[in-house]
Amino acid sequence: MRTMRRWSVRHARGLKKLYSLLEQIILKLNPVIKRVGYARLDKPILAVEKLAKGVLVDSQSCGQCVVGETGLSCPMNCPKSLRNGPCGGVRANGKCEVDADMDCVWVLAWQGNKNMGVKEYPIQIVQRPVDNRLWNTSAWLRKLRENTGERDVFPKDAA
Ligand code: SF4
Repeated sequence: MRTMRRWSVRHARGLKKLYSLLEQIILKLNPVIKRVGYARLDKPILAVEKLAKGVLVDSQSCGQCVVGETGLSCPMNCPKSLRNGPCGGVRANGKCEVDADMDCVWVLAWQGNKNMGVKEYPIQIVQRPVDNRLWNTSAWLRKLRENTGERDVFPKDAA
């Protein structure tokens, strides 16, 4: 999986485009999704999301995905769960302070941001702390509800 992390960061530009395309498709499907019910669809969509993001970015399914801003490097792979940049312990060779065999997720995030080739570096966006109540819920559905102006609620609270 760690090899895939590096691969995804190297191909961040193409994968981001693919991700945007997928986002557009899901947005178009919103009326159907809404009719069926967000809560009812959370588990099946999460299963697809876990498979896709698990393979591509070694996602940990925190339910509040920010890999679009972190160069496709999942910050939840950081042993300290840091979501706004690296700790002070990154090794000189770019490896993690805690796990010397692992690339620091923030070194990968910086490379991924550069590879995306966008002018504004989204890595600069300050991320909210992790909301532990959202683990193993669909980040795609949550994003969809944000993008369509819906209230961001818990799947279990959703109608
Ligand atoms: S070196 Fe990087 S991955 Fe390791 S704990 Fe620090 S920020 Fe996280």
